[in-house]
Amino acid sequence: MAHTVNTGEKPGKGEYSCTKCGFDVTLGDRDKMPPCPNCHNTSFTKV
Ligand SMILES: [Zn+2]
Repeated sequence: MAHTVNTGEKPGKGEYSCTKCGFDVTLGDRDKMPPCPNCHNTSFTKV
């Protein structure tokens, strides 16, 4: 099971995939994880 990243965390640079709809969010070094832009889910896994 992959590590889960939640909205509001700063997991670091990389791509994260919504656990609900699979939407990919790309974050920079100091970006905070937003809610999913597609379905407003709050948990993601690193791609
Ligand atoms: Zn989603």
